[in-house]
Amino acid sequence: MSTPPAGKTAAPATTQKEQSMLLQKQMIGGHYDALTRAREEGRKVVYTFVPGNLTELMRSFDLLPNLPEINALQSGMRKLSGGYIQEAEKLGHSEDVCTYVKCDIGMLKKGNLGPTGKKLPPPDLLLLSYTGCFTFMKWFELLRHEYDCPVAMLHVPYQSDGRIHPHHRDYIVEQLRSEVIPKLEQVSGRRYDEDRLKESLALSARAEDDLVWVLESAKNIPSPIDAYFGAVYYIGPIFSAFRGTPEGIDYYRTLRSEIEERLRRKQGPITPDGPMAEERYRLVVEGPPNWTSFREFWKMFHEEGAVIVASSYAKVGGLYDRGFRHDPARPLETLAEYCLGCYTNLGLPTRVELLQDYIREYRADGFMINSVKSCNSFSVGQLLMLRQLEERTGVPGGFIESDLVDPRYFSSANIKNRIESYLQMLEQKRSSKASQ
Ligand code: SF4
Repeated sequence: MSTPPAGKTAAPATTQKEQSMLLQKQMIGGHYDALTRAREEGRKVVYTFVPGNLTELMRSFDLLPNLPEINALQSGMRKLSGGYIQEAEKLGHSEDVCTYVKCDIGMLKKGNLGPTGKKLPPPDLLLLSYTGCFTFMKWFELLRHEYDCPVAMLHVPYQSDGRIHPHHRDYIVEQLRSEVIPKLEQVSGRRYDEDRLKESLALSARAEDDLVWVLESAKNIPSPIDAYFGAVYYIGPIFSAFRGTPEGIDYYRTLRSEIEERLRRKQGPITPDGPMAEERYRLVVEGPPNWTSFREFWKMFHEEGAVIVASSYAKVGGLYDRGFRHDPARPLETLAEYCLGCYTNLGLPTRVELLQDYIREYRADGFMINSVKSCNSFSVGQLLMLRQLEERTGVPGGFIESDLVDPRYFSSANIKNRIESYLQMLEQKRSSKASQ
């Protein structure tokens, strides 16, 4: 493809780690260290999932969250997931099963070494906040066979008509009171402290404000961020263990001030190969990223000058950009509404409307679907979404296929070829429009 060099990134030598990146590295590393020391320090550990996580509630009992999906994606980025997946397949887990699950099971069978190379503790509680993806339930059924510990299940009703009804919220609050909180009390040996929870929720709301500001900065032209590849770093602290913590506040304040500066200077996103020199295409992306070839995957876009200005994946742990904030005045109700609003808990029509709005609000030239067949929660209905989005917006869509953490399903040449052809088609459309 004849892309002018202007779309390329600057030389790697110019790449520098920003303060927020260093901060995040310290925070995540510190959290893994705390997990590995948990046993000797007498702390209790809860395994739970990202969408619908109850971090503030767990932390109000001094419990440490451990998130299997985060461990799996970290293993993917460290090129360990392929071996773990094969280990799980040897034990009989089918090729079609979500590869996060197989990666987690394989990691467990090979000694449960976390991303820092140190052994992760077994759970003192499995807390399943069930938000839309059936695999969450099957995953914890498997872990329940491996660990001798209590299980708490929070059933979150699917948003089938795209609305949160009061009876949905009340149903969840009732489960929090009668099922989840008693289990947390039992495991931690502490009483439920609502004032502590409220303090934490107030911190969450402040960090959420800054995160939304950062994500919405992509409405500017040029966008100072990449809202898919860059945003997976930005959402790391808030979607994992740091919602409702002072460290979370610091991180998002620092990140926001860095982006404000980039915006002031009219700079584009910083990629692993340096700052982007020119924004040529603005895209919306649907679907999770590939982690085993993450840098290579990102490069296929940024070296063509393609910036992702909005993505559904950056909302997998909460749609704050649609207005939701944790509300300390209504602690359990707000946790219930948070769980109900996660992307995985939304029906197809709501997902289509969301992406349609993103295409319009972020002035996107196109949208791309990265379909991951082993992630049913995202991939079901994506071809229908493609068709509906094209019809409603008039913006052409692209479709690629890869996997989360299984390196066997990242066909580099094939994906690159599709992305280039897609961008070429956008270019041709643009030229023919200009000549009319
Ligand atoms: S199927 Fe998708 S949403 Fe469900 S656990 Fe696996 S990666 Fe997560």
